[in-house]
Amino acid sequence: MDFLKKYRKAKKRCALWNFILNCEHEIFYEGAVNVILDGEVNGVVDIWRCRKCNKVHADARLVGEPKLPENVGTGVMDDLKKWGILVCRSQNKLEWSVLPAGKEYLHRCEVYGDERLFIDDEGNVKCENGHEHAFLFIEKSKNSSLVVR
Ligand SMILES: [Zn+2]
Ligand SMILES: [Zn+2]
Repeated sequence: MDFLKKYRKAKKRCALWNFILNCEHEIFYEGAVNVILDGEVNGVVDIWRCRKCNKVHADARLVGEPKLPENVGTGVMDDLKKWGILVCRSQNKLEWSVLPAGKEYLHRCEVYGDERLFIDDEGNVKCENGHEHAFLFIEKSKNSSLVVR
């Protein structure tokens, strides 16, 4: 491959990368996941997708109609396959939040306080204090239900 060819290829790759990083998202509502807890719908995860870069923003909703969250576009956008819910059980209380895997988070537990969690790409959760958390991917439950046990 001559220099010019190499240069053009690198430039192309760079343009694609810039496009993804700097996308001015055009968001549409893609669907929802019902979160089932103790046999009842405990909440809904709304899925918003950008029609330009194809990335997703997912957000928890407890009641009511889907409403575009204010942080869409400035908030985290990631592939749908990465999004899931983090389930935290401290004592008898069960809480969940919506996050993409493959990142580290500062998480607040009712009982244990602030702790650092890392969710790997496979959805394994490592807590700095060794507390048990579960992570459930939402992709396969789109327009259906996800049962939390
Ligand atoms: Zn976009
Ligand atoms: Zn927790």
